[in-house]
Amino acid sequence: METETIVPAGKEEKSLNFIEQIVEKDLAEGVNDGRIQTRFPPEPNGYLHIGHVKAICMDFGIAEKYNGICNLRFDDTNPAKEDTEYVETIERDIRWLGFRWGQIYYASDYFQQLYDLAIRFIKEGKAYVDEQTAEQIAEQKGTPTEPGVASPYRDRPIEENLRLFEAMQRGEIEDGKMVLRAKIDMSNPNMHFRDPIIYRIITTHPHHRTGRQWNVYPMYDFAHGQSDYFEGVTHSICTLEFEVHRPLYDYFIDQFSGPNFCGLSPYGPDYRPKQREFNRLNITYTVMSKRKMLQLVQEGLVAGWDDPRMPTVCGLRRRGYTPQAIRDFMDRIGYTKVEGMIDQGLLEHVIRENLKETAPRVCAIFDPVKLIITNYEGEGETLTAENIDGHDELGTREIRFGRELWIERGDFLEEADNKFFRLSPGGREVRLKSSYIIQATGCEKDAEGRITTVYATYDPDSKSGTEGGNRKTKATINWVECRSGLDAEVRLYDRLFAVENPAAEEGDFRDLLNPESLKVVTAKVEGALRSELHAPVLVDGIEQENHYQLLKQGYFVVDPDTTSEKLVLNRTCSLKDNYLK
Ligand code: ATP
Ligand code: MG
Repeated sequence: METETIVPAGKEEKSLNFIEQIVEKDLAEGVNDGRIQTRFPPEPNGYLHIGHVKAICMDFGIAEKYNGICNLRFDDTNPAKEDTEYVETIERDIRWLGFRWGQIYYASDYFQQLYDLAIRFIKEGKAYVDEQTAEQIAEQKGTPTEPGVASPYRDRPIEENLRLFEAMQRGEIEDGKMVLRAKIDMSNPNMHFRDPIIYRIITTHPHHRTGRQWNVYPMYDFAHGQSDYFEGVTHSICTLEFEVHRPLYDYFIDQFSGPNFCGLSPYGPDYRPKQREFNRLNITYTVMSKRKMLQLVQEGLVAGWDDPRMPTVCGLRRRGYTPQAIRDFMDRIGYTKVEGMIDQGLLEHVIRENLKETAPRVCAIFDPVKLIITNYEGEGETLTAENIDGHDELGTREIRFGRELWIERGDFLEEADNKFFRLSPGGREVRLKSSYIIQATGCEKDAEGRITTVYATYDPDSKSGTEGGNRKTKATINWVECRSGLDAEVRLYDRLFAVENPAAEEGDFRDLLNPESLKVVTAKVEGALRSELHAPVLVDGIEQENHYQLLKQGYFVVDPDTTSEKLVLNRTCSLKDNYLK
């Protein structure tokens, strides 16, 4: 797969994507009485990932744009893999992204109707119970150019099919011993028509909502279109791999709509849902499959579904991605009919652009050395700095200044040439960010020759914000006052995988993890961050993340591991943007 380079969009009017064009045409033609209803249909068998968000933005976006409704439907037809834990996190993640559904539905709400439909199909001679193994059935499917072989059970009498299917439901038949198949066409060029399995037995796991009520469960093709139909969905939007299922989707709808209408939907005989497909999202340096993510979580290769390296919604959130940035990313990549691979750099570019406008700047010192200002007397003072330089409308914060400060070790050189503009004894003036101008006078070292303290003098008439503050220096350095500053555990995250497309590589994807994807350091951060040690703020029941730019270091977010004693910060992204290079 080629990696696409998407040039960041300007503010110009966007043209309609192909699904919007279809919707506008349907509206113009009065299809389904001009009603627009979509659904987002996750299976509650894992956490939402950024691929799902592409579908969410489409499903909810169409409803928002065209005055329709988007419902949330849990596609919960496989109790062996599903759980209420997933239902709850899916709802939470969608709300955090800023979308609001109309109704919540479950495919399991329709188990009785679907079962009744299956019985009806059996009675009409359109379905039969097959006793072959899954392997035998697969072998008989044929190839797209060779017809399949009919099952020896294909022509079983209707009465026997009914009796066996009912026995399957009563739990009298072991899992895997029988399935119900639609009797359609074993030589159809579309393989999905070659008597697809529509029901299977699952007795090993209770269902998270219906418990032990059912022993047979409908397959995707028999449940999805029908659920759309029962609910009144007009545009059933999904990803391209379902395109080949579409004729089967339509075939089942045909059995009970139009001339065969039998009242299963309140919208009358002319109503029918239509499936439309767009390209999946794939991103470099990550995996986009729930199964692989589950494996990483279960084997402890990441810290959980919300590990900040994971492409899950909760992982991105913990990494410091904002809903705006994620939605902006979806706008830029757009929707097409061609599968591709998106450069992770674009995602990073978008969040960087977003945080550049919004994240307050604070000082943090990653490799601290002490600086003593020898001519500074007294207890210290409080200075004011703009949250974002040049934007006083975005507020200011207070910073403590005093005699003892932390500065970056690399900002001082005992012996420097004339290309080094930061601190060095010998008269060069350097501004301490948002405060005074200082000059280094010397340093102290330990027995190993490592510098322990830097000495300097300051100019009391050079304070930023005063007339003397306009005096220019060749360098400005960051600092944190020792007494008011605090320690923060800083988690420096990088890409989860070391290769662009782990799914395309031979061998085990777990061997391709980036060994450098997490480094932890302790940094000195300015006292303004002390407020982060309080309980997080809730808005509309949703915990708010707090984002900062640590000057010269990157964008960071406060991690939920933060306690009243300990501040934890996660790196969202660095300051440098290589995306368009
Ligand atoms: P996975 O392949 O990760 O297991 P899935 O397709 O089985 O995902 P579902 O819960 O069935 O997950 O998906 C819900 C919806 O999200 C479906 O409509 C599906 O088409 C869409 N979706 C899933 N993955 C992507 C993706 N990578 N890009 C766009 N849409 C996606
Ligand atoms: Mg699926």
